[in-house]
Amino acid sequence: MTAPRIHPWNVALWRSLPPLAGMRPVMLLAGPAGIGKTSFAAALAHALLCPHSGADRLACGSCPSCRLASAGNHPDLRLLGCEDDAEEEEVVGAGVPAPRGKASRWIKVASVRLLADFLALSAHLGGRKVVVVEQAERLHPSAANAMLKTLEEPPPATHFLLVSGKPVRLPATVRSRCVTLAFTLPPVAESVEWLRAQGSARPEVALAQAGNAPLAALALDRADYWKVRDAFIDLVLGREDFDPVAAVDRLGQDSFPFMAQAMQRWVYDLLSIASRGPLRYNPDCAQILHRLAVRSSRPALLRFLGHLNGVMRSIDHPLNARLAAQHCLFAYRAALCGMEA
Ligand SMILES: [Zn+2]
Repeated sequence: MTAPRIHPWNVALWRSLPPLAGMRPVMLLAGPAGIGKTSFAAALAHALLCPHSGADRLACGSCPSCRLASAGNHPDLRLLGCEDDAEEEEVVGAGVPAPRGKASRWIKVASVRLLADFLALSAHLGGRKVVVVEQAERLHPSAANAMLKTLEEPPPATHFLLVSGKPVRLPATVRSRCVTLAFTLPPVAESVEWLRAQGSARPEVALAQAGNAPLAALALDRADYWKVRDAFIDLVLGREDFDPVAAVDRLGQDSFPFMAQAMQRWVYDLLSIASRGPLRYNPDCAQILHRLAVRSSRPALLRFLGHLNGVMRSIDHPLNARLAAQHCLFAYRAALCGMEA
């Protein structure tokens, strides 16, 4: 678990929490990805475990409980998430087997069953017990089922913090047992200022690319993201005469998820120009986008966007990433050619 931190835009939500003694035992921290829900959950878990938490509901940060929690060794804290265990074959979505050798996309029922002992024993440190479920929407249906009864009647002094960026994917039976804590995107100006303070090189564009989620934007700035994005715009997105096969060879099939998402955002912006809307994701490429949009045909782009949305749904387990990437690039080029027709 990461060191708990309540980001400035989540402080008001933190202050709206009831006193720890009155905290409901099952809470769903829901809201867009990349805005600090997991840190918030960690801070809340530490606070619930710390015997010295004050009226501000903050953990003291220095007692044995806080030290154990920060080190990830607290015996009364369990973290439930997807495992890096590919030995057991899972059925993913519509009967598609998960690729072997990759992290499971599900929180498995076995993980939930392992909680039973933890829940049955009294707290090692004599205080509360806390279970944090990360990416709760990944609870396998059977795992969610196995949890229902516990969520309905949690053992005494036990708290469940479910964190989800896609709460609608949680079974309604689980959602109905939770008190929802709703996280929202902070105002753009506040995020830009915060990103600048973190040393972000391109805060406005990073934020736009990350759908206005500041932590997701910061993560972009730290990775090789800009180099790959610039290359993709240069090689593919910004031109009509590229060679899809050569482009995929150059960019590498591993960047297929990146390519698909970048194309989705790029086409979204092209369509936005066509309807005289603002550039949502690529404000720094206004010139190229306008040049392409002038010749664009809305129906061709919309068809391509439909194709991409289908691709995104199975992006984590494409049968052949290289072919799928080439196919997408051919379709994009065709959509651009369709514009001229
Ligand atoms: Zn403490």
